[in-house]
Amino acid sequence: MMPISASTAAKKYCRLQALGGAYLGLFAGLLITFGVWRWSEHNFALNEQAYFDFRVGQLLASIDNRLEAYRQVLYGTRGLFAASSVVARAEFQEYINALHLEQRYPGIQGVGFSLIVPKDKKDVHIKEIRRQGFADYRIYPDQDREIYTSIIYLEPFSGRNLRAFGYDMFTEPVRRRAMEYACKHNQIGMSGKVTLVQETDSDVQAGFLLYLPVYRNNQPHDSVDERKASVIGWVYAPFRIKDFMSGVGDERRGDLNLSIYDGETLSADSLMYSDQPQLTTDQAIVTTRTLRTGGQVWTLVIRSEPGFGNWLNHDQSLTILISGMALSVMLAFLIREFITRGQALAFAAATNRELQESEARFRLMADSAPVLIWMTDAAESVVWLNKHWLDFTGRELSQELGRGWLESVYPSHLDLVVKLLGWHFQLRKPFSVEYRLRRHDGEYRWIVNSGVPRFDEKGEFVGFIGSCIDITSHKEMEEELWELATTDGLTGFLNRRHFLVRLQEEFNRMQRNDDLHSSVLMLDLDHFKRINDSYGHATGDAMLKHFAEIIRGQQRKIDVVGRLGGEEFAIILPDTDIYEARVFAERLRNVVASKPLWQQDTMIEITVSIGIALLNYASLSPDSVLGAADRALYRAKADGRNRVALAGK
Ligand code: GH3
Ligand code: MG
Ligand code: MG
Repeated sequence: MMPISASTAAKKYCRLQALGGAYLGLFAGLLITFGVWRWSEHNFALNEQAYFDFRVGQLLASIDNRLEAYRQVLYGTRGLFAASSVVARAEFQEYINALHLEQRYPGIQGVGFSLIVPKDKKDVHIKEIRRQGFADYRIYPDQDREIYTSIIYLEPFSGRNLRAFGYDMFTEPVRRRAMEYACKHNQIGMSGKVTLVQETDSDVQAGFLLYLPVYRNNQPHDSVDERKASVIGWVYAPFRIKDFMSGVGDERRGDLNLSIYDGETLSADSLMYSDQPQLTTDQAIVTTRTLRTGGQVWTLVIRSEPGFGNWLNHDQSLTILISGMALSVMLAFLIREFITRGQALAFAAATNRELQESEARFRLMADSAPVLIWMTDAAESVVWLNKHWLDFTGRELSQELGRGWLESVYPSHLDLVVKLLGWHFQLRKPFSVEYRLRRHDGEYRWIVNSGVPRFDEKGEFVGFIGSCIDITSHKEMEEELWELATTDGLTGFLNRRHFLVRLQEEFNRMQRNDDLHSSVLMLDLDHFKRINDSYGHATGDAMLKHFAEIIRGQQRKIDVVGRLGGEEFAIILPDTDIYEARVFAERLRNVVASKPLWQQDTMIEITVSIGIALLNYASLSPDSVLGAADRALYRAKADGRNRVALAGK
């Protein structure tokens, strides 16, 4: 009996032990699952917040970039006024048409010019515009006042925009404030919320306007008083806010919800723009930012839409929780099964594998994001890049990690990039840096690299996460605008305004060193009017181009050529005395005289007269040098044309 009952007891003990072990295993498994789940939830919240901040930064930057593009448009348009004292309607139209506003600057309603009309000139002004073919033209609202302003140009001059023709924006306080601000600070002024006069009754949107003052040519406008005295009007651009925001659109990709308020109070009155909310939840992350520009403040309220940051894989923690619990139960069974054989450890490995798979899923999500994403540790060393990055640079992960990615940075940007990044790592603040990065095909593309610092749950800095966007086309657009604003369309030489800027720079260079000297040439084609009169204006233009080509063939790279107006040109010859300049001018004069323009079978001859003046430390001002060259030119004309004359000789 004894051995039997002893063996039953032993079996019972064994079973109890297995059961105890199983419960213990279950308890421990659940405890670990709970811990890992909490950690994963916490980690998700941290990542989600960092990603949100990062996306908000991108959104603000893209709104600001849009505004900047429009500011450039206004500066360019003002350049048109600086280039010639009277800008005709056709010229304005041609310039704005060339910008292709609709395709390239979506959201802009148009670009216009508002002219200041003093009370005593009002009637003459109205007559003049009516004479141009606008029989119904009037300035409105029609009240008696000292100063009128009138929108005389607004391109495209069609559709809604026709309603603004003749509108006096100065009578409306919100617009007036922006116009005065622009004049007072000599920069772009932005208006508060308005309803544009272009609005019809359907789809009424809030609007705003940007203004830039235009001054009378050759008049000083350095001080506020001088600006008030010389302002003749404003170039301006009206915007409908929804159309403007749809230009910014793409960057938001529906995961952020944005409302824009005019000023700093949030009210129904000040609300300018609001995205349709998808579905409000209390889990949204919300932030309020301000954007200041042109004397105006916009308050932006940004909230995450439901599903924001889904790619961060929130399901990860749920997977951990469920699979952890299931595993714990299985673990308990298996412990019971295998406790005597000591094989429980195998299941710890299974748990581990599950976590690794979860991690792999997260990477897959990040790799499918359509931007270049990177992450560093606290020591500035890149520890992770997404697939898109590697596709862009065409390099291996092992080449890029650490500091390897710097090899693709444009060589002359490298120093600055290294310094800037080092600086931001010390600051531990969000940053944005623009530079060029080599793409897989060898082309250096302009990118903007934005990063935000990461902190762990104890608040310790652990590195940066960020992304790069290709902004090459944006850069090209800026360059094109710069070119439009600084060069003369017909000849490709600098326009008058920019030539004077370069002359001032050359003058400043002379002031720093009394050993230096340069020459300034003024050139004017002889009897040019006859060419227009005999062959027509188009042939006159062809002659100007022909003349420009001859100059191009003769000049050095460092020489600065400008078209001052009509058939009048000027050239700066740096580090050239007037005798050397005379040799150059004589050669140019000879080539011009011996190279006629051929139009079909007609040979058209032209000659040029040239005046030369010296620019050195003793010169009084750029204007005085230009004046001396002009007087020499006048002498060359008086002495019979087709000749070169030196100032003071
Ligand atoms: P000169 O300089 O020898 O005294 O005689 P000119 O006939 O050249 O005299 P002026 O400088 O007074 O006339 C310049 C003419 O150039 C006046 C205008 O008909 C013409 N002109 C000005 N700008 C342009 C332009 O952009 N294209 C064309 N085709 N003609 C222009
Ligand atoms: Mg002439
Ligand atoms: Mg002339």
